[in-house]
Amino acid sequence: MRLFSLKGEQLQTVSINDDAAKAVRRGHPWVFADAMRDTAPLGTFVHLHNRKSQVVGWGIVDDGGIGIRALPGEACPLGKFLAERFTRADALRTRLMPPATNTYRVVNAAGDGLPGIVVDRYGAVAVVRLYSAGWAVHLEALVDALSALPWVESVYRRYGVKRVDGRKGGETLMGPPVGETLIVEEHGLRFLVRPEKGQKTGLFLDQRENRRRIGALAAGRRVFNLFGYNGGFSLYAAASGAARVETVDMSAPALEDAKENFRLNGIDPKAHAFHAADVFKWEAPGKAGLVICDPPSLTHGQTADGAAKQAYKRLNARVAEWVTADGLLASASCTARLDGPSWEAAVSEGVAKQGLWTLLMRCGAPPDHPVALAHPEGRYLKFALLSRL
Ligand code: SAH
Repeated sequence: MRLFSLKGEQLQTVSINDDAAKAVRRGHPWVFADAMRDTAPLGTFVHLHNRKSQVVGWGIVDDGGIGIRALPGEACPLGKFLAERFTRADALRTRLMPPATNTYRVVNAAGDGLPGIVVDRYGAVAVVRLYSAGWAVHLEALVDALSALPWVESVYRRYGVKRVDGRKGGETLMGPPVGETLIVEEHGLRFLVRPEKGQKTGLFLDQRENRRRIGALAAGRRVFNLFGYNGGFSLYAAASGAARVETVDMSAPALEDAKENFRLNGIDPKAHAFHAADVFKWEAPGKAGLVICDPPSLTHGQTADGAAKQAYKRLNARVAEWVTADGLLASASCTARLDGPSWEAAVSEGVAKQGLWTLLMRCGAPPDHPVALAHPEGRYLKFALLSRL
């Protein structure tokens, strides 16, 4: 474990330009590489200096376009810093999480003062995913600090962030080996999770509250759940008494898990439908009283805003057509590329091709996905519930 202390041993300093210094002072977690006047080895903790050599903050050195991840508060030894941050993040979740839920995000990167680190809880397993190669240097310290949380029996690392680990799968770092599947509970519903093979760390935890809200609107209705993954929205809808839920996803294995999730909750998947299909080509078998559309990010890398808006516009125009005259459309976007108003404008323009609509509700990610106020880039999830007028 690499420890350091401020007393006796000075932290290396990195000078950054004025704009970056101002951003760091406001609490922004990113210092872009081109704003740095000095370099330091990957994973080093450094003091950040402005042009006048005043300390404006501290951070950990990364090796991508983001050259340093700025950390909150004053520099302190790593073990102490991590212990305090993890304990604080975990205590916040204890206050926030709904009953009968043992799966949620424990650490949401910069929103918990730990830029580049995501930790998701699946029962007694903490799944870590690193978005900054700098932290990989300090894996042992991370595992030590996580192990101290009262519910943690195993710590698992999930790979798959190209710039950081460039490999697939994952491995148990501490505690009893984590099996291929786990069963967890969300609002009293049981879900099968695959920490090694599932998307992200296994579940899309950011849609938990939206699944509950939207599922509750499904009673007696036919539902199309587009981009349904392992049937999260579908299961809530079926459990709320939907007449028939049709889940569409390109991934056949995800749909098999969706069926298994129905069975785990005593719902017969045969009473519903699962279509392995591309939503952009799927021919809907009629219309539904509730259409849910939660696509993967439709923008990649440097896609221009205009092109990104077009993609959401086109998709929403297509799926809005499948909503019955008295129906609802729940539309989501997980792209950080478009801000809320731009995405809403794209959705509005898209659905306008299919008649008149009203906006019933808009929301984002739940409070276990906090976002630093100075870091609007972290506010990626957008969700709107629309009704035909
Ligand atoms: N709503 C889900 C998460 C959806 S993630 C939840 O609450 O858990 C996006 C899903 O879209 C993934 O499962 C992926 O397999 C699927 N997907 C991506 N492109 C697709 C396409 N063109 N057609 C159908 N499914 C697609």
